[in-house]
Amino acid sequence: MSDRDAGGTGDTGAEAAGEPAGGNPPVRRLSDWDAERLHRLAAAHETPLYVQDLDRVRENCERLLAAFPDADVRYAVKAHTGRAVLEAVRDAGLDAECASAGELDRALAAGFDGSRLHYTAVNPPARDLDHAAGVAAGEPGITVTVGAVDTLDRLAERGYDGRVCVRVNPGVGAGHHEKVTTGGAAKFGIPYDRAADAAREAAERFDLVGIHAHAGSGIDPDQLDSHRELVARMGELARDLADPDAAGDGDAAASADPIALEYVDVGGGFGVPYEEDAPPLDLPAVAAATREAVAPLPEDTDLAIEPGRYVVADAGVLLTRVNTVKPTPDETVVGVDAGMTDLLRPAMYDAYHPIRNLGGGRARDGGDAPSVAEREATPVTVAGPICETGDTLCKDRALADPARGDLLAVGVAGAYGYEMASQYNSRPRPAEVALDDGTATIARRRETLGDLLTVERGAAPDGDDRPEGDR
Ligand SMILES: *Cc1c(COP(=O)(O)O)cnc(C)c1O
Repeated sequence: MSDRDAGGTGDTGAEAAGEPAGGNPPVRRLSDWDAERLHRLAAAHETPLYVQDLDRVRENCERLLAAFPDADVRYAVKAHTGRAVLEAVRDAGLDAECASAGELDRALAAGFDGSRLHYTAVNPPARDLDHAAGVAAGEPGITVTVGAVDTLDRLAERGYDGRVCVRVNPGVGAGHHEKVTTGGAAKFGIPYDRAADAAREAAERFDLVGIHAHAGSGIDPDQLDSHRELVARMGELARDLADPDAAGDGDAAASADPIALEYVDVGGGFGVPYEEDAPPLDLPAVAAATREAVAPLPEDTDLAIEPGRYVVADAGVLLTRVNTVKPTPDETVVGVDAGMTDLLRPAMYDAYHPIRNLGGGRARDGGDAPSVAEREATPVTVAGPICETGDTLCKDRALADPARGDLLAVGVAGAYGYEMASQYNSRPRPAEVALDDGTATIARRRETLGDLLTVERGAAPDGDDRPEGDR
């Protein structure tokens, strides 16, 4: 299904935001989306519905490439792994950073060739490593980033002798919530003071091409210092590896061969403003601080970055329909058809997402509710259909007084939205529409109740009915 805009005016976000045609603002706000168009999409495809604007994805890629002209820019695909998004990012010239066998396969299917694939193995299950080694046999340009010496051994056991990058735990973290701060968490990467040894071991056994650190998600203006510190440590490590004599960290290092790295990857975590009045990240300033902190890099060693959220977050909205308006003594609860199974971030991270009432609902007497402009702002809790107290999209938020049937738009939902969706409460996952130069296409169909049954024993004709122990 697709709908083309009347008149083909190409209502890009930039124009809707009052920017000149071809402008590329640092953020697209929820209020910049064309409400009429969102109404049409919800009417055509029902709710809950994700809308992902590929034109905005491209703009975000362009801003990143412009701010980091000399760096390798890799898209962390876990933020949004939809095929249409991956193709747009591939065409824009970014590489793909993948965290699992599944992400690798989806990036390959979207047309990334091996030399543009970076597989970051975090405690990789045997099945994932088997798969990655198999992919590498056909795509030798792929790079595997390892966060433990065990992973080197496990790769060697599978006959892998290709490109390897060592993930370092720099001991500094950043992040908008403790659950997304990885830099200081022991789970991720090899401790900084052992990283040089691990890198030298990797260089003896594999083709060591890089070192990597990812501090966590949410580099924002307040956290530039910890970002700078991480980047500086990585620059220092690269210099130590390139010139072990100068490093002066013991005999082992002094007798070591110099290692010329292709790149120093300082990870992702570029923040986007979720609150309507929060300033956007000053990307050129972050880029300048990054370059300065990592310098001087050894000759022929490039900077690399791995943005996920920044590429897709403000390119997506989630549309949901009001089905219940319930006044209570404490608050008005607005029940909607999207919940934590569609957008987990509020329940999992207490994340804020802007929400806008686009109206269109009915009054209690059955007539049309007044236009949203005529309604009073009312503090409400917006709650989903899941049997969990945490299943709210916002609390005590002022929205234009909601009526049953209204359409709500949840903004900045393009990153870690659909990807974290689940079928909890046996809820089929929502549909997603991709907007591409004025055309809307179903990128992912809505799951059906039937989809929920297909993988269960006895339900599917092609199901695996063998007892668990025999598989
Ligand atoms: C998640 C992740 C990223 C991207 O993080 P964002 O906050 O989305 O930019 C980059 N690198 C690695 C290794 C990651 O796990």
